[in-house]
Amino acid sequence: MLSFVNNFHMMIPKKVKIGAHTFQVLMVDDVDPEGNVGECCSEELTIKIKKTQKESQLAETLLHEIIHASDAHLTEAQVDRLGHVLLQVLRDNKLDFVS
Ligand SMILES: [Zn+2]
Repeated sequence: MLSFVNNFHMMIPKKVKIGAHTFQVLMVDDVDPEGNVGECCSEELTIKIKKTQKESQLAETLLHEIIHASDAHLTEAQVDRLGHVLLQVLRDNKLDFVS
């Protein structure tokens, strides 16, 4: 699951398994009227990603929403920080836990 982060030309998966649930990843023109670039819905099991972002932003947005899905009690600031740092560590160390 994390292998895509190593490849800058990564593909956004259509589905992401998080805990017991499989979330559909939907690439959309607009997430919401507020201009957010990502959204996670734990009731519908969907993650929406604004598709016009650059590749590095797509990865960060997906990771951000995965962190939201994994723990709804984290604050926005905590999710932001975790997503940012995790993406950097995975990329800069070329970490691949799958292959
Ligand atoms: Zn968020």
